[in-house]
Amino acid sequence: MNDKLERDIMYVKGVGPKRAEAFARVGVTNVYDLLSYCPRDYIDLTSVSDIRDTRVGELNPVTIRARVVKKLPPARIRKGMTIYHIIFTDDTEDITVTLFNQEYLYAGLKDGEYYALYGRVTGNMVRREMSSPNIFVANTPDLIIPVYSLTEGLSQNIIRKAVKSAIELVTQEVEDVMPRYVRDSVRLCSQAYAWENVHFPKSMYGVQEARRRLTFDELFVYSLAIAYQRDDENMRSGYIMNRVDCDELIDSLPFTLTAAQRRALDECTSGMCGTTRMNRLIQGDVGSGKTVVAAGAAWFAYKNGYQSCVMAPTEILAVQHYETFRTLLEPLGVRVGLLTGSLAPKAKSEMQKKIAHGEYDIVVGTHALFSQKTEFSRLALVITDEQHRFGVDQRAALAAKGKNPHCIVMSATPIPRTLALILYGSLSVSVIDELPGGRKPIKTYAVSGKMRTRALGFVKKQLELNHQGYIVCPAIDESENELASVEKYAHELQEGIFSDYRVGLLHGRLSSDEKAKAMSDFKNGRIDLLVATTVVEVGVDVPNATIMLVENADRFGLSQLHQLRGRVGRGEDESFCVLVTENTSPECVARLKTMSRTNDGFKIAEEDLKLRGPGDFFGTQQHGLPPFKIADLSRDMDILEMAQGLSNRIIDEDPKLELKENAVLRELVHRLLEKGTEIS
Ligand code: ADP
Ligand code: MG
Repeated sequence: MNDKLERDIMYVKGVGPKRAEAFARVGVTNVYDLLSYCPRDYIDLTSVSDIRDTRVGELNPVTIRARVVKKLPPARIRKGMTIYHIIFTDDTEDITVTLFNQEYLYAGLKDGEYYALYGRVTGNMVRREMSSPNIFVANTPDLIIPVYSLTEGLSQNIIRKAVKSAIELVTQEVEDVMPRYVRDSVRLCSQAYAWENVHFPKSMYGVQEARRRLTFDELFVYSLAIAYQRDDENMRSGYIMNRVDCDELIDSLPFTLTAAQRRALDECTSGMCGTTRMNRLIQGDVGSGKTVVAAGAAWFAYKNGYQSCVMAPTEILAVQHYETFRTLLEPLGVRVGLLTGSLAPKAKSEMQKKIAHGEYDIVVGTHALFSQKTEFSRLALVITDEQHRFGVDQRAALAAKGKNPHCIVMSATPIPRTLALILYGSLSVSVIDELPGGRKPIKTYAVSGKMRTRALGFVKKQLELNHQGYIVCPAIDESENELASVEKYAHELQEGIFSDYRVGLLHGRLSSDEKAKAMSDFKNGRIDLLVATTVVEVGVDVPNATIMLVENADRFGLSQLHQLRGRVGRGEDESFCVLVTENTSPECVARLKTMSRTNDGFKIAEEDLKLRGPGDFFGTQQHGLPPFKIADLSRDMDILEMAQGLSNRIIDEDPKLELKENAVLRELVHRLLEKGTEIS
């Protein structure tokens, strides 16, 4: 990097040791950091309101441009508190500005001179007021005023001045930090323009352009650091497979794969033929048919003479996958085994012996698979379902059972591809963005508790058509109390409106045998209506189930409701979901209406994000996202994608960034890594 940029912040005019300390607290230690310290907001003085048009009590601040008519004498209301009133006008109306103890500001205001005032309009019928607005000389050339995040010892003014000196110091002579070829390939504005416009903008357009460039710089260095850190050893494939024609499998399936499924399967099989270990996320909305793609990949490994294992988060799902894999693959000669925690000790050790001897080609199971005693003879592919239920360490433990086996994780959680990369480091993503043909959207209705009887009648209509249904009751902590009430509810339904049908019960506190029995009874049609807590949330597949009624639907997040709802609509018949809520507040109704409007999991996640705020979805705690300074991932996804694409290409060609033109990149990456930012 140019040494002017690397200079300590103290080289900047007006920054001494004290201020340098304050700057360090916001991560600014040299000139480059200072210039990259973006305002968190802007006051746009280019859109000015007439005072007459402003609304008293309006929550949003406005900007007005007005001249001083009269400065009233200061009023000392008590010790240490002086109030100043100034009357302004813009010739459409007057406004009274109140300042508290800001003598300096008051003294500086000149009669007849124009100022821009930015603040909330308060007052009453006869008088408009503004309390402690931001005040700028209105003939100032800066019509857009940056607002920085502050810390003790820093004010807006101190930062503005420091940035100004820094810009004067460098932009004239300093070349853009990024290598020419990087700049050419991304086509963003120059660094000099970005710095100038992010700190001293002339238009909001300039701000946007500048922000995009600085966002790119931040995300690019971050992505580069992820790619740079790839561990070669860990990346090498232990099992380079040979191409095998998949027609035998595809022809044997009871349905035609969708184009998206074929593509995902292709990506999986090619991945396993490469020299680097495959680490792939198969992402697809509920019902998109991820399981068969995984089965295809396992079959491919089998044809290459290898074992695969399939991990499910719950016993119910393990059993279900076991059955699916058997149905699909046993006719082709594949030996599928089931290993779960509920096996008796003897049966379990038998099973483990067989696995170790290679008597199974595919082993489906739950956590029991992790137990130290389970050894595989030639495990080359590890498939995990619904990965968000597993800890990273659990997956790693299983992966360690093979010699760098290939990994596939299946998930319906709509994390955009680019975010997945940030979360999981070097992970390839296959997206199944298409539902199997003939699948109809699930008709969804939100109703209030008053309509429950009618809603239950509607459920009964579906059962009369020989379909099956779910009634889901939220049991947040599955405490005895809550479960008792679910049991009671199930009992009432059985004795009452559904007396002609078989009502089953499924909740988290049942023994695994009981759970498995309830599930298989439902699958085999021995139960018509399954009353369940959220244990049915993930993955359960019963195509004949066409109706789901969710009690207290407002207790669920939208994405969770979407997952739940995905349990129906899996067959040819039209399916329904009824959301019952006692909460009729407008927000709640609006939220649940989203569910009736769309069946697209990504849209719903977005809506959830909008309604609940970014804290929830993009919150760094919850999703483990790194804390970016400039980038806002809820809107900068396109830039992230660009940054990732480019950094991968660069690292492919120059893994250790040793080429001369990459020296500065190496330096930026090292600086980031040294700062101790956690890189996944
Ligand atoms: P998910 O992606 O939610 O895990 P599943 O793999 O459980 O979805 O598949 C949902 C249902 O769709 C299953 O009953 C499965 O047999 C069926 N299915 C999968 N692919 C197709 C297809 N191409 N055409 C028709 N039905 C399919
Ligand atoms: Mg599934």
